[in-house]
Amino acid sequence: MRAISYARATDVAEAIAFVGADSRAEFIAGGTNVIDLMKDDVARPSTLVDITRLPLGGITPSATSIRIGALARMSEVADHPAIQANFPAVVQALNESASPQLRNMATIGGNVMQRTRCAYFRDTSQPCNKRAPGAGCAAIGGVNRMHSVIGTSPHCICAHASDLAVALLMADATIRTRGRNGERIIPIAEFYLLPGNTPQRETVLERGELIEAIEIPVSTAARRSVYLKVRDRRQYEFALVSVAAGLDIQGGTIRAARVVLGGVAPKPWRAAEVETQLIGKPANVQTFAAAAAYASAGMRGFGENDFKVPLVGRAVARALALAKDLA
Ligand code: SF4
Repeated sequence: MRAISYARATDVAEAIAFVGADSRAEFIAGGTNVIDLMKDDVARPSTLVDITRLPLGGITPSATSIRIGALARMSEVADHPAIQANFPAVVQALNESASPQLRNMATIGGNVMQRTRCAYFRDTSQPCNKRAPGAGCAAIGGVNRMHSVIGTSPHCICAHASDLAVALLMADATIRTRGRNGERIIPIAEFYLLPGNTPQRETVLERGELIEAIEIPVSTAARRSVYLKVRDRRQYEFALVSVAAGLDIQGGTIRAARVVLGGVAPKPWRAAEVETQLIGKPANVQTFAAAAAYASAGMRGFGENDFKVPLVGRAVARALALAKDLA
């Protein structure tokens, strides 16, 4: 049994100061990830700083964007009419995550901060550079069916777990944070870090920095978007490969495209070359198949996950066809 302190923050500044001053303190909101990690003895916080009473909830639409408070629950966001009208991929990503009970509890801020589902990360008897830097990586040469095929390093090959983050990158979302040095607005494209030599560092957040809100700009492509999730079972399972795809089609021609992959990299992975191949082309299955062939460029498996490389292109072509049919 480990002793843990609990503190309920009464304002944002207090929460930031508390976690900023204690290297082992953690924020807690929905608790669906951090409590799991504590049960596995992976997270060992000295203090849990409860932020659930802070004024960081709500969903606020404007003419050009929608602001989602960090404490908004996953189910609340998925059910919101403005999110449904403007970001179908976000709704699908949320509804295909976890379980109804978890979606009623987990927050949006917590979702984008969730840790990897690599089984070795959660097994303290196994070497894991993310949990214990320098220990080694049991997944390389081990059971790696769920792991990444791009963006890896010799120190870590884990895959990012969030479905929502994939859809948010497709929609070009930004993350508003507040920390000891004030407010930051971070494009989600710059929020996550690849493992490199420091797999324990997953985002650009500094100690004590708190996500206050996520803002998603309204766009034609995001309004015509889908989230396709390929997984081993229909419910309560993480992605083998996922695709968030958005298309702006005018007169049958693709004017803008956004394609982001999940389940294949340690962070949501933008398929920029696929997007380039789509622009100016007719929106049909031939175009989608030709562009999708670029999705797996640079990918390589680690044995058990080799199947992901050919699967990526097929999933991208399918997601683009589904997006086209959203009229
Ligand atoms: Fe740890 Fe990453 Fe290796 Fe998994 S893949 S064991 S998280 S270092």
